[in-house]
Amino acid sequence: MNKKILIINTGGTLSSVMKESGLVPGLSIHDMQKELHVVSGDTKIEIEDFCSLDSANIFPEDWSILAQHISERRNDYDGIVVIHGTDTMAYTSSMLSFMLRNINIPVVITGSQLSITNPVADAMENCRCAIHMAASGIPGVFVAFNRKVMLGCRVSKVRSLSFDAFESINYPNIATISSLGMKIDNSAVPERSGIFQLSNKYSDKVAMIKMFPGLHRSLLESIAEQGYKGLFIEAYGIGGMPFLKHDFISTLDKLIQGGMTVVVGTQCRYEGSKMDVYETGRKTLEIGALQAHDMTAEAALTKLMWILGITENPSEIRDYYSMSIAGEIRKA
Ligand code: ASP
Repeated sequence: MNKKILIINTGGTLSSVMKESGLVPGLSIHDMQKELHVVSGDTKIEIEDFCSLDSANIFPEDWSILAQHISERRNDYDGIVVIHGTDTMAYTSSMLSFMLRNINIPVVITGSQLSITNPVADAMENCRCAIHMAASGIPGVFVAFNRKVMLGCRVSKVRSLSFDAFESINYPNIATISSLGMKIDNSAVPERSGIFQLSNKYSDKVAMIKMFPGLHRSLLESIAEQGYKGLFIEAYGIGGMPFLKHDFISTLDKLIQGGMTVVVGTQCRYEGSKMDVYETGRKTLEIGALQAHDMTAEAALTKLMWILGITENPSEIRDYYSMSIAGEIRKA
């Protein structure tokens, strides 16, 4: 029997048209149906518009509604494709991986660097790959881009212009398309750890900061004063935090004592944090900061938002943060 796939459009470059104000998402899913039917092969597709936004205008409330929508539709389809702008795609795919934990069907997010109306665009190829993955029967949240399928909670946008815009960070690709067809690496597909349950709450009181020489500690204090409950810091190297001339560690200690959850990761794209090596990392662990290990910044941040939407209990937060929810973390 032919597989039945739902394609949900949220906007982005793939559906964009040039206006006086610049490139904006302007095509509805129905404007794109001819192209989508060309690439869908023998799968039966149904199409719908969710919104039509540049992904810079996608916010956590959109993730929550989208997750709920996918959850409600999941039993009517073999797989779901989400068309999305590339700029915040990695945040959306990470958060959907958590909100749709243990989803029973493939949910494949895709987009493109050029509009589907452009004859030399990557749009048709990316949709073809996404539809093919959505029909694969492999459950989970994925990103399909440039003939690669990657785990949704492992991708980052690493190039702003090239077709090869996304990489799977610290994790193998789930599938690649070559002259041999689509080759799926089953050993890279995380096992489902239980039954699906929609979990689409989140905390919007989470901030992210990149450490740099010259950052003022007062900025961290003012984040806490504004009622933020979680802070993700991209620290140096394998997770180093300054404490001599400007003692960030005692500032963070105060924030943690005051109830804030602090997660420390690395600003290096590859290989993750390892905070038990240097004094600058160990001291940070000693005051109770959590560690992002090999997670992407997108996953580290959205995981913190997601967990703080579930619990405010410090030991539960610690347990959730260190466990793998969807394959996003492997400890060094
Ligand atoms: N600005 C666009 C977006 O994220 C970029 C793209 O889709 O490639 O919506």
